[in-house]
Amino acid sequence: MHDIIVVGGGPAGMTAAIYARRASRSVLVLEAVACGGQILNTPDIENYPIEAHVSGYDFTTRVEAQARGLGAEFAFEKAVGLRRGGDAWVVETNKGGHRAKAVILATGAANRKLGLPDEDRLVGRGVSYCATCDGNFYRNKTVAVVGGGNTALEDALYLADLAEKVYLIHRRDGFRGEETNVARLRERPNVEFVLNATVSRLVAEKRLTAVEVTDVRDGSVRTIELRGLFVAVGRIPENQNFSSVIALDAAGYAIAGEDCHTAAPGVFVAGDNRVKPLRQLVTATADGAMAATEAVKFINEL
Ligand code: NAP
Repeated sequence: MHDIIVVGGGPAGMTAAIYARRASRSVLVLEAVACGGQILNTPDIENYPIEAHVSGYDFTTRVEAQARGLGAEFAFEKAVGLRRGGDAWVVETNKGGHRAKAVILATGAANRKLGLPDEDRLVGRGVSYCATCDGNFYRNKTVAVVGGGNTALEDALYLADLAEKVYLIHRRDGFRGEETNVARLRERPNVEFVLNATVSRLVAEKRLTAVEVTDVRDGSVRTIELRGLFVAVGRIPENQNFSSVIALDAAGYAIAGEDCHTAAPGVFVAGDNRVKPLRQLVTATADGAMAATEAVKFINEL
């Protein structure tokens, strides 16, 4: 039995492992695929307090080495369930199960994709799911944002300050996001609304050069030349496998405050799968530190 199982090897999970090991607690990190999570998609981390820019891959490699160097164990298994077993928590995985006194769920959230051919290949080559991470690469260029929620509206406002031109493509003519942001966008001379339209094709060779957009009313197709497409059609927090233990909000995010406690004693959440106003590398690592510190306190009090 471990003291702490961390589910998810992204920045939040690996930071939790570092903090737990520094408190001399045994730690097992369960990661389904490869450590890093969404930060692996970022070619150049510019908004994290660090003296030199690093890629998401380099960042992950170094933080994973740091956690392993401190004695954290890693297992590449997908967590599929969480339950109480005697005096411990049992994390069930695709390869069996592991027991621990405390569990930190740092499973992150997956970006909802458009589901278009080549979408995955073009991530980092014109397709992005994070305007605040990647917007700076598109200074004085033409970009588009897809979506009609608050994320899309805020992304479009953010990009309007950087890019030469921003198209906002949304499948309806009414927005799900706040009207004040819609009004702000209407005032921007470099923002053009493309409504009742869906992106139907990504036009690319090595990188994205244009998108084809289909009008949902008459099926007519328009080509928009651009350098960047920011997809903001919602996110899917990876909490489904734990919903019998932790409370989720309507969008599926784990309900927990800044102390990362859930209502289940000994179960903590850290990072993008938690209800929070800003999902960034810096807030994920902060959560990891907080969740591990609280988990250690919980174990000390057992
Ligand atoms: P969201 O509110 O779920 O909006 C997703 C948008 O994407 C919707 O407009 C939806 O269109 C569209 N969409 C979904 N699937 C699509 C597809 N396959 N193709 C094209 N369009 C698609 O997601 P979000 O904007 O990421 O926001 C998530 C939550 O965080 C919301 O509660 C939001 O208010 C909140 N948030 C708050 C703030 C803030 O308070 N500052 C900032 C950002 C986000 P339909 O409208 O037609 O369904």
